[in-house]
Amino acid sequence: MVNMIDEYNEIINNTPFIQHILVIEDQAQRRTIILDEANYSLGRHSSNSIPMYSRQASRHHATLVRKFNNKTNQYSYLILDGDLEGNKSQNGIFINGQKCLIHELADGDLINFGCDVNASYHHLGRRDNGLMNAALNLAGDPNSESQTLDNSQGNNLIKSTLILSNEDTVNERDEDDTLEDQSYLDTITGLPNQTLFKEYLYIAISNAKRYHNCAAILLIDLDNLPQIYQSIGQEAGDRILKEAGNSIRKRLRNGDIVARWNETQFAILLPQMNDTQNLPNIVQRIILAIDQPITINQQTVKFYPHHAIASYPKEATDSVEILNLVEKRLTQVKLKEQSVATFTTGTTPDLQTPNRKERVERRLYRALEKGELALFYQPQVNLKTGEIEAMEAFVRWQHPQQGLVKPSQFLPWADQTELINPLSQWILQTACEQNRQWQQAGIPALVISVNLSAKQFYQDNFSNLVTEILKETGLEARWLELEITESLVLDNFEKAQTIIQSLRQLGVRFSLDDFGKHYASVRYLRELPVNKIKIDQSLIAKLAENSQETEIISALIDLGKIFHLQVVAEGVENQTQLATLQNLQCFLMQGYRFSQPMKSEDAKNFLLLHRSTSP
Ligand code: C2E
Ligand code: MG
Ligand code: MG
Repeated sequence: MVNMIDEYNEIINNTPFIQHILVIEDQAQRRTIILDEANYSLGRHSSNSIPMYSRQASRHHATLVRKFNNKTNQYSYLILDGDLEGNKSQNGIFINGQKCLIHELADGDLINFGCDVNASYHHLGRRDNGLMNAALNLAGDPNSESQTLDNSQGNNLIKSTLILSNEDTVNERDEDDTLEDQSYLDTITGLPNQTLFKEYLYIAISNAKRYHNCAAILLIDLDNLPQIYQSIGQEAGDRILKEAGNSIRKRLRNGDIVARWNETQFAILLPQMNDTQNLPNIVQRIILAIDQPITINQQTVKFYPHHAIASYPKEATDSVEILNLVEKRLTQVKLKEQSVATFTTGTTPDLQTPNRKERVERRLYRALEKGELALFYQPQVNLKTGEIEAMEAFVRWQHPQQGLVKPSQFLPWADQTELINPLSQWILQTACEQNRQWQQAGIPALVISVNLSAKQFYQDNFSNLVTEILKETGLEARWLELEITESLVLDNFEKAQTIIQSLRQLGVRFSLDDFGKHYASVRYLRELPVNKIKIDQSLIAKLAENSQETEIISALIDLGKIFHLQVVAEGVENQTQLATLQNLQCFLMQGYRFSQPMKSEDAKNFLLLHRSTSP
């Protein structure tokens, strides 16, 4: 070893200020080479100045060419695929994960030769003697990343003129019988695939060990990718995925690698870090690259990425361990998110913590995409005719862990995020489609009643949106009823009037839900062009003969009659309530007394059984 260091010192004193170092590793050995010749050929054949010990390497696989820069008075090295005659290698060269034919090497570049031969390039100032000594101190290194390293052959620091030519292990054949390797690039994104990433990781950890650096892996999972493909199609999906890969790459430093890890995941290798203190910031910057909505073919989609990080040497001792760790962490992150059980009945959402808001929004968005949301339907019955006059739609979340979740447990959360509009639109669209399907199944037409959220109702183009949905689903406007509440109306009475007016002109119906719960103002009834009032279930629940509530309900029913409105009692649960309401001349009712809200299929069967005549 002492001799080697002496030899190195002699070399370094006779070389220019910048040292160009190539660390090359193949099945046989790891070599550190100080580059100072004008050209180097690299390949499987022993005639190469840097032989490569792999059947998958071409006989003359790559060439290094020195290039002088007059301005800086320094030289650099270009790497070319193939030889100087222009013959390309079979499997190509990949610099930092990108396949290329020619590349000017920069400090920290990772090179893969389309097979199990990897190299890294470094340039060091002469003062970096410590680093060079570390590079030198290779033979028998107990921390070596390589398990297959043949120490008897030694890991050598080689000055170009001293390059070992190990003829025994280099396959000399006349014809180029390079083994064609499996592809190293992902066909959709053009990024390195998992195999190539692992090669880079291996060499990165080896380097980190020797130079006492840190390295880290970031795994990013886009688990709503299949849903995105489903909604925008294969071609647009591929483009978005490629775009996502490019956005990540743009945020990386030279020498960092982004690869397509699997169907929905990207892996990022950060091979040269002095410490990991700044890692969270770096990761944040990378994540931001794909946490933005992307518009393609006039459709906007958004990834909701999960990610996990692991670092060497703090958390893992080799490339296998760091990979296992980061994969395990990602699985944990995803499981944790799936079981977000933060929806507690009756609590007002506290979304002040940005993370929490984001988490809930993300989880709900995925629920929507994954088809975990469903509409349930409850009939409105006319006791005079015995007919079902309408079905009201209620949204439910069929949560994989928590079972059926009621809207009061998640709608208030959604209401505080941007998600409420796409969610509400989905509800409206699904309800209209459902009603049209019932009609197509031969069930005499009836009204579908849909609850509106305030944000949805007051959004700029709400009337157009409803018109559009009716057109798309082929449902006549008269079979759609929209339920608004008094408190919604109070937000902006004039605007509410205008919106209702414009939709009424189309034929859409309106009902005032939860009537009597808070205000039951006569003014609303006079000035709001609604068709129906629905007496709040809290009043119906207290309904008993001669109670004060009975008198209030009686007054509300009369009020409805005065303004020529239909009156529905909601939350009717028992025979006493039913009979009392009939006595008060209220015949439209809805509640468990008749049916619980039913899922689509059950609602259809219910209608086939009970709805016989046309209205
Ligand atoms: P709402 O529109 O007044 O709906 C009546 C609620 O009472 C529904 O609860 C229904 O399942 C329940 N219910 C029906 N019959 C009875 C009964 O006999 N007894 C009792 N105790 N309850 C009965 P749900 O589905 O939990 O909905 C609660 C509220 O959430 C709804 O009040 C509505 O304001 C809102 N909501 C439900 N679905 C949607 C939706 O799709 N969009 C919007 N924006 N809001 C919705
Ligand atoms: Mg309602
Ligand atoms: Mg109600």
